[in-house]
Amino acid sequence: MLIRGGRVVTATGERDADVLVREGTIAEVRPGLAASGDVIDATGLLVLPGVVDPHTHLLLDTGTARTADAFESGSLSAAAGGVTTFLDFAPQLPGQRFAQALQSRLDLIEGRSYIDYAIHLNIAHLPEGWERDLAALVEAGVTSAKIYTTYRGTIFYADDWTWYRLMERSREAGFLIQVHAENDAIVEGMAQQLVDEGKRSLKFHGLARPPVAEAEAVGRGLLFSRATGSPVYFVHLSTPLPVDLISEARRSGVQAIAETCPHYLVLDESRYGQPDAARYVMTPPLRDLTSQAQLWDRLARGAIQSIGSDHCGFSLSQRAGIDDFREISPGIPGVETSLLLMHSFGVVPQRISRSDLVRLLCTNPA
Ligand SMILES: [Zn+2]
Repeated sequence: MLIRGGRVVTATGERDADVLVREGTIAEVRPGLAASGDVIDATGLLVLPGVVDPHTHLLLDTGTARTADAFESGSLSAAAGGVTTFLDFAPQLPGQRFAQALQSRLDLIEGRSYIDYAIHLNIAHLPEGWERDLAALVEAGVTSAKIYTTYRGTIFYADDWTWYRLMERSREAGFLIQVHAENDAIVEGMAQQLVDEGKRSLKFHGLARPPVAEAEAVGRGLLFSRATGSPVYFVHLSTPLPVDLISEARRSGVQAIAETCPHYLVLDESRYGQPDAARYVMTPPLRDLTSQAQLWDRLARGAIQSIGSDHCGFSLSQRAGIDDFREISPGIPGVETSLLLMHSFGVVPQRISRSDLVRLLCTNPA
């Protein structure tokens, strides 16, 4: 197949060229290639690599709620948004070994996705003999796991001892620990304080999870990384301070990676004051416009290395009539819209270049 006449964009530059695909693999990229088989006319169009979304939660069952999509519909939606690979998470339920958690997830996905996929584990506890299990995961092609520093009392939470022991081991095992960074005591304390003051409506969702909670947990992770020598990846950063802490640590040799999501770049906390606030309940929450502008600045300077959608699609009907930030399962869809949003709000107003777009959405996550 030949994609002819387009503007080919990569992480390092762009040029007018044809793209020749042979047996599912890109064989050649240069102008004036001879056609063999199907020809797609891309004259006047951009030709980008497929988006690799490193962070989706399709068909997530939290134990109290279940997302509105399944792997068929979710992967179709991803494909419509230019995504050719997504990385989803396998929750480790109480009592489950790593391999069981992985298999339960694969049983749900296999044969149902329209595009390529890979799995991160969500590690919540370390069963006896877990060190061997970690090595087996790597052999099975699973080389990363997320831990949650918050949601204590749910299937997701991992305490610091679990997190630290994992990182003591992960570098040697060839494994990457990802972190949902929010200090649990701070978000729980702040939420309780608001509730005590009678402020439990969705208007207060943002206040309940203050930026300092994110920065503190990132600082802790950077310290663990420094102490253990293991790399660490922080998912869905919503504020500039933790990004700056990561930049500082990287300059002194810590292998830390910062991810943000399109919603923190195109939406702000004023949404929580609007009648349709339920659409925007995700964690961490949306922040103010100053914080948003500073995130764009960090993105343009290369201080954020990865963009994930954190797609977690609950329907509005699941949230209808709930005006209490503690009662809503958080999450916002996005796997279909990441590329469009980053192009419209990033490339078009010249906040980032087209090559930045490809680097952040395709090359780095890959
Ligand atoms: Zn997530």
